[in-house]
Amino acid sequence: MYIEVKDAVKTFKQNSGEFTALDHVSLDIERGEFICLLGPSGCGKSTLLNAIAGFDKITEGSIKINGEEVTQPSIHNVTIFQNYGLLPWRSVLKNVELGLEAKKIPKEERREIAEKYIDLVGLSEFKNSHPNQLSGGMQQRVSIARALAVSPDIIFMDEPFGALDAITRMKLQDDILNISKQENKTIIFVTHDIEEAVFLADRIVVMTPNPGRIKSVVTVPLTHYRERTSEDFLLVRNKIFELFNMKPDDNIEYFI
Ligand code: ADP
Ligand code: MG
Repeated sequence: MYIEVKDAVKTFKQNSGEFTALDHVSLDIERGEFICLLGPSGCGKSTLLNAIAGFDKITEGSIKINGEEVTQPSIHNVTIFQNYGLLPWRSVLKNVELGLEAKKIPKEERREIAEKYIDLVGLSEFKNSHPNQLSGGMQQRVSIARALAVSPDIIFMDEPFGALDAITRMKLQDDILNISKQENKTIIFVTHDIEEAVFLADRIVVMTPNPGRIKSVVTVPLTHYRERTSEDFLLVRNKIFELFNMKPDDNIEYFI
């Protein structure tokens, strides 16, 4: 198995004692899978993602990637956050080149690779612009290009489209899905949005809080490309709502 999470427990010290953010979580992920971690706020999605990405250590259990215990972030993986993480004083091109500089790729090659991925996310015309001249959606595209440019094995995404409006978000969902299939990346994507998970994921890891647990892992029985308004899509979506003991028209605020 490519990624193996076994009986992971994560506790945090809080004023009144210990809080269990992950309670014996186990999960296997294959190379090339698009996995969504889905659940309401506080169910441990970011904690699990950060543990697999090597940013934070678990209290008990084991997490392995390619058979090796995760102890720190790997240069073979990248993480994309909701707030884009771009350097405001650098142009789009220079932002995308950032990871390539760290890898000591020579200048000309760097430029070539950066331009390829800027083109892939549709921002060629803006390569000399600075982040503050771009919309939120465009900035997130830059950070996707920057992530792809270093040819990562795994891309971790923590609610990457959470700050974007609904239309921009759908466009970026389309793009990240196309890219993930085209480039055959393993993607672990955190979201609290059921439709986003049903649209993107090969498998959805349904998590519940207090303590953070995996309630079930749902293989989405739909081929790509998925029509958000099709009967099949809505059927899967409703099934997931039921797993959370909610109806589609229940108060979705619970999820935010
Ligand atoms: P999610 O991403 O699903 O919203 P998190 O993984 O961020 O949830 O958090 C899960 C739980 O763990 C929350 O109740 C949160 O308050 C708690 N938690 C997360 N990080 C810390 C921390 N550094 N210290 C104490 N408690 C934390
Ligand atoms: Mg989170």
